[in-house]
Amino acid sequence: MATTVDRHVVIVGASLAGTRSAQGLRTLGHTGPITLIGAEKDLPYDRPPLSKHLLASDWSDEVIEGNLLITRAELDELAIDIRLGTAAVALNTATRTVALADGSSVQYDVLIIATGAAARPSPWNPPSGVLQLRTLDDSRAISARLALKEPVVVVGGGFIGTEIAAAALKAGCPVTVVDPVAEPMARLVGPEIADILVDLHLRNGAETRFGVGVVDIQGEAGALTVVLDDGTRLQASTAVVGIGSIPSTTWLVGSGLTIDNGVLTDSSLRAIGADDVYAIGDVARWPHPGRGLDHRAEHWTNASDQARYVATAITGGDMQPYNSTDYVWSDQYDWKVHSVGWRDSAGSSIVLGDLLEDGRVAVIHADAGGIACGAVTVNWVRALNQARRLLAGRGTATALVEELQQRA
Ligand SMILES: Cc1cc2nc3c(=O)[nH]c(=O)nc-3n(C[C@H](O)[C@H](O)[C@H](O)COP(=O)(O)OP(=O)(O)OC[C@H]3O[C@@H](n4cnc5c(N)ncnc54)[C@H](O)[C@@H]3O)c2cc1C
Repeated sequence: MATTVDRHVVIVGASLAGTRSAQGLRTLGHTGPITLIGAEKDLPYDRPPLSKHLLASDWSDEVIEGNLLITRAELDELAIDIRLGTAAVALNTATRTVALADGSSVQYDVLIIATGAAARPSPWNPPSGVLQLRTLDDSRAISARLALKEPVVVVGGGFIGTEIAAAALKAGCPVTVVDPVAEPMARLVGPEIADILVDLHLRNGAETRFGVGVVDIQGEAGALTVVLDDGTRLQASTAVVGIGSIPSTTWLVGSGLTIDNGVLTDSSLRAIGADDVYAIGDVARWPHPGRGLDHRAEHWTNASDQARYVATAITGGDMQPYNSTDYVWSDQYDWKVHSVGWRDSAGSSIVLGDLLEDGRVAVIHADAGGIACGAVTVNWVRALNQARRLLAGRGTATALVEELQQRA
């Protein structure tokens, strides 16, 4: 009978959550075999740079190596058996077997599901010219189109769409950002400062069509027409569609796990419906203690934290329910947006500072009882760090704002 640390751990999904959990297992003394299975052919790499500096990079070997989460030598040193370019296609929890696309299968004692998410497919698919961004190859393809300095339409004004728009402008492309929502950032940063982020596009030279949907994209690369629902026809060389992502769970259909906008887990990230199966990162939906509902995060820090958490649990650590730091960052042109905690729709928010006058702002969110539950800052890392610390103390939002004012 295998003991806690010598069981065979199979990890499906060789990106941030998968790689960090494999490394965490070894750091915590796991001696048994670790198999890391990835659908992509590339060594595990970091995704945030794909919409940021990589778009403007020269794609040299140094740049790509600098963006790896782990090197081949480190994998060998840690005795992590990595199988790249081979997707898992089915899971049998009765026999504890993962079937792979190449016809082989792997048996596990413990399974970690870390298959993340994929870009929500574009509903508009002319023969060429419409691109999406989730993988290294996607980023490379977009980067090549931006180098042409021809007009780009970005569909989707969220974090990633805005980062692509900024990169396209920097590359010298005329850019139009389209989103059916009037203030696309409101969902991410709250309504208090969303309008300023709308203006940010215009101040940086992009055109915007917000509150207007896309009905079709016609033509081909170099000669696209993006048709909007108000009748406008935008001409573009390239369209990049960034309309969100969907959890990668199709391979789990029929496995007996509970799949509902991700793999549902208990508060310790154990998948509901099978023993010794965990789900982490962008694919996992777990009972979030603060928000009071099942929550699926699509953010770097959560994927990394959950990886460390399950590595600790698998190696026999004494566990409390998983508690997320809910931390997100994004570069919006030259502004640094950070968010920690969450916004309670039944609560209220206090704005500190003026983004246009002072160049920085903090928005502190309170729940219905006035307890601080989240903060968004722009260009104000010190306030973010203080808020992060004070949020852990579960004080009122008013007290948190007073303390920030004293220390600002
Ligand atoms: C362009 C971009 C920019 C981002 N910027 C930020 C940012 O600024 N700040 C921030 O907080 N977060 C950012 N994120 C989000 C962050 O990168 C993700 O939260 C993080 O990558 C999640 O890690 P993960 O390992 O859970 O999933 P993923 O990174 O999605 O990796 C899942 C892996 O599993 C593989 N896989 C899927 N299905 C299978 C299968 N059946 N078999 C085998 N392998 C499979 C996939 O190919 C993929 O390699 C960004 C994401 C993107 C795409």
